[in-house]
Amino acid sequence: MSTGPLLEVRDLAKHFRVRRGLLGRAAGAIKAVDGVSFHVQAGETLALVGESGCGKTTAGRAVLRLIEPDAGSVHFDGQDVLALDAGGLRRLRRAMQIVFQDPYSSLNPRMTIGNMVGEALKVHGIASGAELGERVARILQRVGLSPDFRNRYAHEFSGGQRQRIGIARALAMAPRFIVCDEAVSALDVSIQAQMINLLKDLQDEYRLAYLFITHDLNVVRHIAGRVAVMYLGKIVETAPTDELFDNPRHPYTRALLEANPQPDPVAPRPRVLQGDVPSPLTPPPGCAFHPRCPKVMAHCDRQPPGWAVVSPGHGVSCHLDENAYIPAKSVTT
Ligand code: SF4
Repeated sequence: MSTGPLLEVRDLAKHFRVRRGLLGRAAGAIKAVDGVSFHVQAGETLALVGESGCGKTTAGRAVLRLIEPDAGSVHFDGQDVLALDAGGLRRLRRAMQIVFQDPYSSLNPRMTIGNMVGEALKVHGIASGAELGERVARILQRVGLSPDFRNRYAHEFSGGQRQRIGIARALAMAPRFIVCDEAVSALDVSIQAQMINLLKDLQDEYRLAYLFITHDLNVVRHIAGRVAVMYLGKIVETAPTDELFDNPRHPYTRALLEANPQPDPVAPRPRVLQGDVPSPLTPPPGCAFHPRCPKVMAHCDRQPPGWAVVSPGHGVSCHLDENAYIPAKSVTT
């Protein structure tokens, strides 16, 4: 077992080639993920946040190789994930799971809940017969569902229950790492709170690590220990959660926080983030945020900013912080 981070991602890139016209001529590439680096420790939650289309979902799926990255490296518990063949990847999938945003479309409508939760255990030869039934019952119970539900189908459940089924299915293989891709975004606030509590309890119990992908900063505050903010395929700021909320450095992070609706009725009304996300097919030169940035400077549209460490664990990519001290070994996200 490795002594470093459980998951280490370096310079990950995924570009989707775009073709146009009858002849399908190459028209460029959408740089959905463009040189992203981060790590996740065992038992930790890292939130990956940003507006829709920033590349966070692509990054999460590329880490699991649900889509193949074009460049970079992914190490899980010291193992080179991108070098694994089909068999090695299948074995690794026991330890690396995903919970999707829309549990209904990710659950097979023709399979009973019990069969769905037990499927992977059967396929991997981990349990069969009576033992399989007992394990499925235990998992359903652990996520707050009655084992009596095992013969029902997905359409018979509410949204919150379906998300519990999604979590049960991910948990069945006793994973160490789960990508939660907008896993609570579609749920009502009260159900959201229940799911967050469940995920936290499971994390404590099994020392699970989560990569929590979301656009909802209110959820982040409740679940994540650290946050990485993405904009147009790149990470622009990362920090421990309290530090990011109390001392955001990147103008994009500040704008996201100002645009975040507060549950408090007397809190100031959220400010709308100005402008649209530019096309990732033709990202702006220099700092990609410069057309929307309230602090834009003369050279921002020419020079891409580097990475500055402004305090332990707090890094930012912005010319405003370019004079921050960068100790060579501390540059990490
Ligand atoms: Fe704004 Fe310039 Fe910083 Fe980009 S580098 S976020 S444009 S100040």
